[in-house]
Amino acid sequence: MSEATRTRPLTGREYLQSLRDGREVYIDGERVQDVTSHPAFRNAARSIARLYDALHAPETRDLMTGEDRLGIRTHRFFMPSYSTQDLLASREAIAHWSRLSYGYMGRTPDYKAAFMASLGADPDWWAPFEESARRWYRTYAEQALFLNHVLINPPIDRNKAVHEVEDVYVHVVAERDDGIVVSGAKMLATGSVLTHATFVAQNSAVQLEEGKAEDYALVFIAPMDTPGKKLICRNSYELSARSPWDNPLSSRFDENDAVVVFDRAFIPWENVLVHRDVRKATAFYAQSGFMPRYTLQSGTRLAVKLDFLCGLLVRGLKANGTYDFRGVQARLGELVGWRNLIWALTSTLCHEPMPGPGGSVVPRLEYATLIRLFGSMAVPQARSIFAEILGGAPLAIPSSHRDLQNPELRPLIDRFYRGSVGDAHDRIKLYKLLWDAIGSEFGSRHEWYEINYGGNQEQMRLDMVRFADARGLLDEFDALVERCLSEYDLEGWRSDTWLGADDRPA
Ligand SMILES: Cc1cc2nc3c(=O)[nH]c(=O)nc-3n(C[C@H](O)[C@H](O)[C@H](O)COP(=O)(O)OP(=O)(O)OC[C@H]3O[C@@H](n4cnc5c(N)ncnc54)[C@H](O)[C@@H]3O)c2cc1C
Repeated sequence: MSEATRTRPLTGREYLQSLRDGREVYIDGERVQDVTSHPAFRNAARSIARLYDALHAPETRDLMTGEDRLGIRTHRFFMPSYSTQDLLASREAIAHWSRLSYGYMGRTPDYKAAFMASLGADPDWWAPFEESARRWYRTYAEQALFLNHVLINPPIDRNKAVHEVEDVYVHVVAERDDGIVVSGAKMLATGSVLTHATFVAQNSAVQLEEGKAEDYALVFIAPMDTPGKKLICRNSYELSARSPWDNPLSSRFDENDAVVVFDRAFIPWENVLVHRDVRKATAFYAQSGFMPRYTLQSGTRLAVKLDFLCGLLVRGLKANGTYDFRGVQARLGELVGWRNLIWALTSTLCHEPMPGPGGSVVPRLEYATLIRLFGSMAVPQARSIFAEILGGAPLAIPSSHRDLQNPELRPLIDRFYRGSVGDAHDRIKLYKLLWDAIGSEFGSRHEWYEINYGGNQEQMRLDMVRFADARGLLDEFDALVERCLSEYDLEGWRSDTWLGADDRPA
């Protein structure tokens, strides 16, 4: 990753090689020696490598990459956008990558591009760390690096002020001539095991008290091999997958969520973007353009996932012979509606942008917040539709591929598990995939993920009001109401457009 000579996006092979850097990753009580060969991560790593190869493949190179204003050829979303056409081209690149995991890898490298491109658009916003911003944009875009990001403080002592939770929350513990030393933990670094660096900041819900919380008012980037930085992983669904047949998604798309721990980790000044600045540390979320831009990536990824879920549901219903029932069609129609809604919102994000940093354009904030809020509802709705109209079908499936390989069982399976369309083999294969998508531990985690993706449920709604206020919408609403109120008084209409009580025909 740090090879200064590399001036083009990594290939898949180079990407895998770049992960062998001595990073400290822990799972099941052991330190992982090589994430690219460990059975908890190796296929997810290969799924990401496939994304990198798509940047170079002749048939997708132009779809995926373009040249930025500095002459750097990179992923289309890794560079700032200056027009609707740029945003649309980014969306197509995001969608292509997303289809390679059927929408089931959320924090692929293009997610953090939502933020990193803004460093290139307006590095001066980060003064006095504008050189850090410039350098990080260039390195990031040139190599198409993969960053994870952690904004959330661990769920401990939330009833206290941030600066009162010194033993847990990330903060500066020492300052040196060449940088800062930080300690503390952050959650949840999705996909971090497979990335090049961690972006650390505060989320929009956090209140930092000026004069007290300066040590916590930080934005910095920590490469994965930073000494003193550790990842503590959750259970791996890739590791517990029984076979591609039984777990076709979790066996290759499980982006592990980890807690990142900094134990007196040194962060050189060139990796610092905000230092002890309460206003900037909390303003970056909305002002850098990150918030509206990330919804273009997350909305497109969610739309692809909904395409996939619609396809799975139609096939599942046909296999059960229930597809044509009126009530079933109505519920299916609702899922298709969610899918159409999210795609339509991504189009709106591109077609109606607003000014962004440094003369760039970013999706309009009031539409971006729609993806954030309604996107968090789509998959829970989908899950309940699946449960209602598939009933027990996803559970009426043999335990594993071995049942089909058992010669005594096979004739019974062929008879009792056949589909209304398709044989038993095809039906079971389909339902194994469907269950992995929606019901397995991996599938359940995905629902949890979508609900919490953009922040806690209250915060998303509170921000909707806050942003509407900041964008002048509340004033517009008020003016409309005021106009209506001003059209009449105790004496009747105040305009001769309408007839009053005295004007009734005799
Ligand atoms: C699968 C998964 C992957 C994730 N990946 C990432 C990632 O890559 N990067 C990242 O940064 N985060 C990630 N997260 C974290 C995610 O952003 C948060 O879970 C989400 O923002 C909700 O925040 P929280 O968990 O702190 O819940 P909370 O904010 O604690 O919310 C829970 C409830 O408590 C209430 N509450 C909490 N504090 C207060 C308060 N002070 N006053 C009043 N009410 C309060 C909330 O309103 C809400 O009703 C991930 C989460 C999941 C589940």
